[in-house]
Parts: sequence; structure tokens; C-alpha cells
Amino acid sequence: METVSTPPTVWSQETALKEKRDVWQALKRGFRGRCPRCGEGKLFRAFLKVDNKCPVCALDFTPHRADDLPAYLVIVIVGHIMVPLALWIEINYSPPVALQLAIYLPATLLASLLLLQPVKGAVVGLQWALRMHGFDEQNPTE
Ligand SMILES: [Zn+2]
Repeated sequence: METVSTPPTVWSQETALKEKRDVWQALKRGFRGRCPRCGEGKLFRAFLKVDNKCPVCALDFTPHRADDLPAYLVIVIVGHIMVPLALWIEINYSPPVALQLAIYLPATLLASLLLLQPVKGAVVGLQWALRMHGFDEQNPTE
């Protein structure tokens, strides 16, 4: 099993003076699938495969550790849309169960697939903005 070890963050006056990164801007850029720093380069080289570095500003994307967080967030988002919708439709119209399943299951799958990449991009953007997982040490002259 491979273990990931990052050096401990040493808090000093120098680290406190680093340029602040706009969290919301990084989230939005990542959500659009763009580099969180420049907003121009593509973040993904495949559906859920984050590229190694930004083709425009050469920001190294390899420190990101999105792991399972995007999937959990998509479950929360889609669940909070589909469950109230299904309950509202059931209470007001009570269509046959087979019809409900024929609509809800594909709709849930489609919504999940459509949201997965943007949410993963937003997570990577958030990690960059918060200088997590080694996004801090690189590119010191930004
Ligand atoms: Zn970039």
C-alpha cells in the first residue's frame, strides 16, 4: 500500500504574508473545468482524470487529493433535488410505481453524471485556494 506523506505546515510570518487566493473564484473556475489559478487551461484530460499541469500557466495539478469527496457531494446534491421532487409528485399525483422508476432512475443517473466532473473540478479548485496537499509549496513566484 502506498502511503502519502506531506511535510507538516510550518506557520511563520512568511507563510502568513503569502498572497491570498480567492476561494469562490477558484471554486467557479474548477466547476467550469478550468485551471483554478489562471482560469484558462483545461483541468481535465478525461472525464474524471485531472491533467498533470495547466497547459497555459503550468500549475502542477498533481498535488490534488479529491478522492471520494466529489462523489459524496454529488450524492448530497442530487439526493436533495430528487427526493423532495419524488415526494412532491407522489403526494400530488401518485403515478404508478413503474412510471416513477422509469423517470427517477435515469434522471438520477444523468444528474449524477452531469455533476460529477464540475464538482470534482470545484474540489480541486478549493484545495488549490486553501493551499492543501502541497499546492502551497509549488510555484512560489506566482
Ligand atoms: Zn492555469
